[in-house]
Amino acid sequence: MRAEGIETVRRILCVFPRYTSSFGTFEYAYPLTDGVKAFMPPQGLLLIAAYLPANWPVRFIDENIHPATTEDFEWAEAVFVSGMHIQRQQMNDICRRAHAFDLSVAIGGPSVSACPDYYPSFDYLHVGELGDATNDLITRLARDPSRPGQQVVLKTADRLAMTEFPIPAYELAETRKYLLGSIQYSSGCPYQCEFCDIPGLYGRNPRLKTPQQIVAELDKLRECGMTDTVYFVDDNFIGNRKAALDLLPHLVAWQKRTGYITRLACEATLNIAKRPEILQLMREAFFVTVFCGIETPDPDALKAMHKDHNMMVPIMEGIRTINSHGMEVVSGIIMGLDTDKPETADALLAFVDESRIPLLTINLLQALPKTPLWDRLEKEGRLLNDDDSRDSNVAFLLPYDEVVGSWRRCMEFAYEPEKLFARYQYQCEYTYANRLKLPVSPEMKSWANIRRGLIMLRNIFWKVGVLGDYRKAFWKFALRRLRQGDIEGLIGSAMIAHHLIMFARAASGGQQNASNYSIRLREASVPAE
Ligand code: SF4
Repeated sequence: MRAEGIETVRRILCVFPRYTSSFGTFEYAYPLTDGVKAFMPPQGLLLIAAYLPANWPVRFIDENIHPATTEDFEWAEAVFVSGMHIQRQQMNDICRRAHAFDLSVAIGGPSVSACPDYYPSFDYLHVGELGDATNDLITRLARDPSRPGQQVVLKTADRLAMTEFPIPAYELAETRKYLLGSIQYSSGCPYQCEFCDIPGLYGRNPRLKTPQQIVAELDKLRECGMTDTVYFVDDNFIGNRKAALDLLPHLVAWQKRTGYITRLACEATLNIAKRPEILQLMREAFFVTVFCGIETPDPDALKAMHKDHNMMVPIMEGIRTINSHGMEVVSGIIMGLDTDKPETADALLAFVDESRIPLLTINLLQALPKTPLWDRLEKEGRLLNDDDSRDSNVAFLLPYDEVVGSWRRCMEFAYEPEKLFARYQYQCEYTYANRLKLPVSPEMKSWANIRRGLIMLRNIFWKVGVLGDYRKAFWKFALRRLRQGDIEGLIGSAMIAHHLIMFARAASGGQQNASNYSIRLREASVPAE
């Protein structure tokens, strides 16, 4: 549904801020693609764009693709911004630019909802999810779009049911310029991991869309050209297991109807491995990747952070079970925990080798507002929010330099090219081999698709195979893939591997933050062109 009953017309400019260069946005892979410039279309802003009154013209600009121009600001009557903590500096910069045109600027999304005081210059703060605050904002702008005399804070008390959410305005996004498509089925998570802000922000009882909504969204993503991989951004895809089981047969039917050209990915807790009925359906629905917050292989550490559910199955067994259903596991890892010891880095590297997980996001612990960790550390006097020389706001129990040194060592060794390609080799042979064997669809055989593949192969062979300084490890991997006729495995693995290798080198050389949530608010290093 949309906001209704508004006669006045307002022109709204939605601007999504640039990301600070980060491990999880894969920007080093973009030059190997056929024109990807950004990670995923932002769900929140595109949802708001779709919710605005039908007669309000909306422009959407993702500054990861290109910056909002003078002409955009001159066209608009008000500007909407949304983003996460790591985009804080860029969001404040958009606000400053919009104010130069005397435009009202509203901010919503996860960062302002957790920390309204980060955004003193904005005219409207939209705190919370889509709901009565959104209607209030629309009514106020309809009445008068000029800047209010002082900041107005609108808090959602009455959330719109997700079953009433409109389909995000994917048509406004340049879908071909994104690495992944995004979609959301549920919001919230029943667990309470100490460091996580999801239960505090979105609740412990997951809210849901209907399977029919998801199928309609997938159809729309497809119409808009986003066919490669679509990522369920749900905080925990199995937060409500019954809901996951309700949805999956619809996804299987959708894949059968559309020819299985879209790969699916999601985030889920590792105890998904205990649910063969879910894994089986996910395989049939062509889920190819599951991001699991494994966090640490140390059982004491899992207990301390209240993530005992990761131990419902032995961790290695859980990973192998997921792999046996054709899904690669991507793992989140945290360093700097109170339970860390001097030998933690070695244990972690042994885990990387044994698990054969190629992609692990290894971060330093960061205390986020609205988490039990924040509250505990505040009581213990261990929050260091004003020290922007550090990559974490936590006073670790081990010396800071030792923790950061261990992190750098883990990044360097985990992403050493030979080792990384060996892990991808394993995935190609033992995980990807377990995926559905699909007939080649007409869409896959189309010239447009073949052309894309050829462009990516050319880029990979030239930039990595000829010019790259790790070409020996690359060719060892690539020749084996070519001999097996596995072009898809070659392209997918080489692209992501390139990002991991290059990012890890920058990280171990001290040029990248050790935390995705680092309070170091540096200039975004991904240029908007
Ligand atoms: S399981 Fe994941 S989403 Fe849920 S509270 Fe823990 S870290 Fe957060």
